[in-house]
This record gives sequence, C-alpha cells and structure tokens, in this order.
Amino acid sequence: MRLFSDHYVQALDAEERVWVDKVRTLCRDTLGPKAAEVAREDVFAWDNFRLLCHTGIVGTAFPLAYGGTEARMQLRVRLIEELGRVCSASASIITGTDLSTRAIVSGASDAMKRELLPGLCDGRLQAAFALTEPGAGSDVRRLSTTAQLEGETYLVTGRKKFITRANTADWLVVVARQAGTEARGTPALIALLVPTGAEGVHISEPVAKLSWYGVPICEIELSSVQVPTSWRLGAVGDGFELAQDALVRARIGHASMALGRAIGAIEIAATYCNDRSVFGERLGAKQGVQWMLADLATQIEASRALVFNAAAAYDRGAPDAAMMASMAKLHATDLCMRVVTDALQLAGGRGFLKNFPLERFFRDAKLNQIGEGSSEVHKTVIGRDLVRRAREAERHPCLHDGSTELY
Ligand SMILES: Cc1cc2nc3c(=O)[nH]c(=O)nc-3n(C[C@H](O)[C@H](O)[C@H](O)COP(=O)(O)OP(=O)(O)OC[C@H]3O[C@@H](n4cnc5c(N)ncnc54)[C@H](O)[C@@H]3O)c2cc1C
Repeated sequence: MRLFSDHYVQALDAEERVWVDKVRTLCRDTLGPKAAEVAREDVFAWDNFRLLCHTGIVGTAFPLAYGGTEARMQLRVRLIEELGRVCSASASIITGTDLSTRAIVSGASDAMKRELLPGLCDGRLQAAFALTEPGAGSDVRRLSTTAQLEGETYLVTGRKKFITRANTADWLVVVARQAGTEARGTPALIALLVPTGAEGVHISEPVAKLSWYGVPICEIELSSVQVPTSWRLGAVGDGFELAQDALVRARIGHASMALGRAIGAIEIAATYCNDRSVFGERLGAKQGVQWMLADLATQIEASRALVFNAAAAYDRGAPDAAMMASMAKLHATDLCMRVVTDALQLAGGRGFLKNFPLERFFRDAKLNQIGEGSSEVHKTVIGRDLVRRAREAERHPCLHDGSTELY
C-alpha cells in the first residue's frame, strides 16, 4: 500500500502498468538507496543513465522505428513521478532526454534520424539542448548566437550558458538566429545539430551549483563552427517552434518530477511524525501537524490531476496542451517548494542534516521553479493568453451586450 493514491496508474493499460512496476522496482532496489550517494558529487550519474537506458526507460521518449516505445505522456508522467520521488538526477535524465532529442525526432532529416536516434535511445549517444545564453534566458527571442550561411554550410558563433550534460553529450541541439534574416523583421531562429567534437566548440568544466548533482551544467563557446545545412532541424524559422515543442514535453516532465519529490517528502515527514514523540504523544497525533499534512496532500492530489490533464491534452494533440503544460509546471513546482519546506520543518533538526533525505529534496526543489521557463514566465504566459482569449471567447451570460464600461 502506498501513502498516495494509485488511481492514475489504474487509468493506464496493462502493458503500461508493467512499465510503472518496472520503475518502482528500480526505485525501491537501486535508484532510491543510491540517491544520496549520487547526490554527493556533481559528476554525471553514468550508472543511473546506463540503467535507465538498458531498461528501456530512456527509450520511452523515442519512436518505435528507432528502437523506442513511443510511450504516451500519460505513462511518462507516472514514470517521471516515480523517479522524482527518490532521485532528481534520474528524473532529470528522462526530462532532459525530451528536451535534447525531441527536436531531432521532429525536425532531423531521415538520414540524421537513422544515424542518431537509435544511439540516443539506447545510450550509445547523448545530446544536450543549447538554448539559453548569457543575455537570453527567460526572453529567448534575444538570442545572439548567429548562424551565417555560406553556400551549404553554416558558420555558428556565440555562447551558451547553463547547458545540462554538455560535457557528456556527443551532439548539441543549438538554437541560433540565421544571419541576414533581420531585414524581414524578427530574425529567423533555426535549430542546428552540432557535434561536440567539432572544431570551434569549447565546453567548459562543469559549473558549481546548488543541487541536482549527477547532471552537471556547462558553458559552451562556439567560434565559427562549420555545420552543413543538412544538419539543420526543420526549416529556416522553425527554431522557436521546435524548441517550444521540446519545452512543452519537458515542462510536463518537470511538473511530474516536482510532484514525485513532493510525494516523497510527505512520505518521509509522515513517517517521522509517527516515529517521533513530543510532549507525551506522537508528533503525528497533533491536530496542527495533521492539518498541515492534510493541506499539502490535498494540494498534491489536485496538482496530479492538473498534470494528468496536461499529459492527456499533449497526447491528444490538443491546441491548449502548451498552456496546460505551463499551468501544470507552475502549480506543481511552486507546490513542491512549499511541500519540501514544510516537510523539512516537520522533521525539525533532522530535516537539516545531510544524512536525512529532506535536505536534498529541499535543495533540489528550487530548480524546477526556474528551468524550462520560470514560474514568473509561466504566469505571464497564462495571464496574457487569458486576456487575449477574453476578446474572442463566449461572453458571460450575466453581462449585458456592449462595452462593460457602460455599466
Ligand atoms: C541547473 C540548470 C540547468 C539548466 N539546463 C539548461 C539546458 O539544458 N539548456 C538550456 O538551454 N538552458 C538550461 N538552463 C537555463 C534555464 O532554462 C534558465 O535559467 C531559465 O530559463 C531562466 O533564465 P535566466 O536564468 O537567464 O533568468 P532571467 O531571464 O535573467 O530571469 C531572472 C528572473 O526574472 C524573472 N522574470 C523574467 N521575466 C519576468 C517577467 N516578465 N515578470 C516577472 N519576472 C520575470 C524570472 O522568473 C527569473 O526569476 C538551466 C538552468 C539551470 C540553473
């Protein structure tokens, strides 16, 4: 019996439920017990990566034709939630696969798909997604990395920042502006495949960070790197949409990872509240503690419903899937920060100790609110969309015709 309800798993078909069982077993026997050790040093978690490839969990993101299982997002959110419950690095290996390989799946030539996807699926190859720059994070349209077209070759120059797993990647998906397209208004963004071993690519040593140890980040310098046009993903001008598609999947993944961690934090805190006695009774017998846990657990279940709906919208190809993904990420990641803060508080001084898992959960929660679009950016996107759609949407029946200013 698990502390949190299993009804989303019951909504999966029998074959999909086998995948959930497989990941649960991995988490219980290997990834969970090893998570503290993985999080001790910020070096790539090779063993976890190989295990997640070998067991086909990385492959759930890839099409059948290239060795994957093309799982529905409704299944993948369950798998990522399970991984996030014990180990952020393992969950990030899965969400990072979406981020770095989705544009290849949707935009690469058939020849490049055949060359790269089977290896990316089984772990012989790795890719990293290089969008963010020192001058362009939330505001990606300010990208300054430039691809200058000369005949059939692009010369790519620029700097990328915060790129996860750049130091273990064989290929980069680089989003750049194509030089010479500014005259038409907004410069056309393109996505290009760049081998990390190409002349002119310099990848820094891993940059020290707060948490998410096991999946290092690096800076990248690109100096007139030659890239054949056949390695462009999609058409000229498709860079933004290809990045967005990858980001939507990764955002749903971030939300699931955050929920998994929130669930794990409540499980640990509730166990502590049962074990610990204060003022003559168990900590968990105090109404204040029960109300705190009840509030958090109820919010978690509400957020799971939102994430499930976002995953289902994505699977259906619904036009509002991106908006649902923004809402799911905003809600789940902000909630996770709150949950880990309160769970750590419930565990008192032990929560603050390195050898108690909540300290790691607390540090790990922060990145989900920043990566793949920060909470503020998602609020802006959701709010702007609501105001825009209010102009065209069906008018509320309690309003008179005409301008509301006439009331
Ligand atoms: C560990 C880690 C891993 C990462 N991995 C990758 C990766 O693999 N590939 C990649 O391309 N990028 C990656 N990133 C970059 C990440 O996506 C960016 O950090 C993120 O998008 C925010 O951009 P920024 O850091 O430049 O913040 P800024 O854009 O400088 O924003 C600073 C703050 O301002 C807030 N803000 C922005 N706009 C508004 C607004 N309109 N209203 C109110 N507040 C606002 C933001 O929410 C943020 O809190 C990673 C980052 C980290 C820390």
